[in-house]
Amino acid sequence: MIVFDLGCENSHRFEGWFASSEDFEQQLGRKLVSCPMCGNANIVRLPNASRIGKSASREREGRAGAGQGRGQQYANVAADSLAKLIGHIVENTEDVGSAFPEEARKIHYREAPERHIRGTASREEVEALKDEGIDIVALPIPAHLQGKAH
Ligand SMILES: [Zn+2]
Repeated sequence: MIVFDLGCENSHRFEGWFASSEDFEQQLGRKLVSCPMCGNANIVRLPNASRIGKSASREREGRAGAGQGRGQQYANVAADSLAKLIGHIVENTEDVGSAFPEEARKIHYREAPERHIRGTASREEVEALKDEGIDIVALPIPAHLQGKAH
């Protein structure tokens, strides 16, 4: 699954989950994607940073497909949609806990199967991972969702 941040003509911002970029493009082309708040079907994809633990190759792929929503300004991101997004991420990632830096590295160097992971890392570990070109995203995951089994 892949999550896209989407926006409608009326500046509503929401997220959509799709099997792939192609799936999203197809649904968009057939006007199957509409705003949950106003029903508007003129949807644009916004730049997003919601995937975590992704590899450098996926990052390049993401950039190639971006750009559609450029020039649009969406100032108000509702707190509840952020909470919803975090909920989605918790549901769709593997919790590796404090092994996160090690696992992220293994995935980056293809020593472990590519997958979405979450976990904890110190500020120094985060900086070290970034220096190695490993793309990670820090999220304010609420305490009650941490360590949640799925
Ligand atoms: Zn709308």
